[in-house]
Amino acid sequence: MKLFDTHCHLGDETLKDASGPLLERAHASGVAALCVISADPDNIASFDTFVPELRALGTPVRIYRSAGLHPHEAKHWSPEIEKTLTRQLSADAVAVGETGLDYHYNLSTPEEQKSVFERHIEWACEFQKPLVIHCREAAHDILTALDRKDIKQHPRPGILHCFTETRTEARQLLDLGFVISFSGIVTFNNADEIREVAKFIPRDRLLVETDSPYLAPKPKRGRSNEPAFVAHTFDFIAELRRENRDEFAEQIWLNSCRTYGVDPQ
Ligand SMILES: [Zn+2]
Repeated sequence: MKLFDTHCHLGDETLKDASGPLLERAHASGVAALCVISADPDNIASFDTFVPELRALGTPVRIYRSAGLHPHEAKHWSPEIEKTLTRQLSADAVAVGETGLDYHYNLSTPEEQKSVFERHIEWACEFQKPLVIHCREAAHDILTALDRKDIKQHPRPGILHCFTETRTEARQLLDLGFVISFSGIVTFNNADEIREVAKFIPRDRLLVETDSPYLAPKPKRGRSNEPAFVAHTFDFIAELRRENRDEFAEQIWLNSCRTYGVDPQ
């Protein structure tokens, strides 16, 4: 069984122990690939060395990376960041983000967030790479921003990551060609509504992720999250949907590879 942690945030601590135990634990729990998500203005440029260093640990886990600036950080947008991200997107970054809108925290103003989100949408269309979208209390504005011809024509427009919206929004995103990714939140006691959505998403449009180091799934809740724990979220959703575990894993693996445009072999 091969699992793909489609969304994780890894830091330098992963490199400090040269044996890479975090990646070993991931491998041991069935993770065959992961995507390290770019978010923080302070380490966008350092991803160019960090990601090759991770790969150089010699892990059998395939390591991909995205390029983008998190909506929380939109106020830090600068010409240098724009230049670095453009360069990374024309190189090996497999996705554009994490981007989107977060009106819960409003750590950047809605205007700053919208303008940076627009730029990411343009990149997704220009480079034909998928968006990785973060949405918190902003589904209406996100759907409005995505309502454009070049997104509708995009063969794999993106992922709504760490899904916490309702079935209505899920339906609208599916209609736009998006895939829906579930984090450990789906395992939480108060997440009945999200579980209902996880049952309804067509099996060829569903992904799983950790969003580590946050949101560890049950039974690891409260601990620092890590890619190995994606197995708990996967098992939980497979059980919830009464899927055949191996077939479902294969399907989600293919969905993940297709979305990121990487070879499933
Ligand atoms: Zn994230």
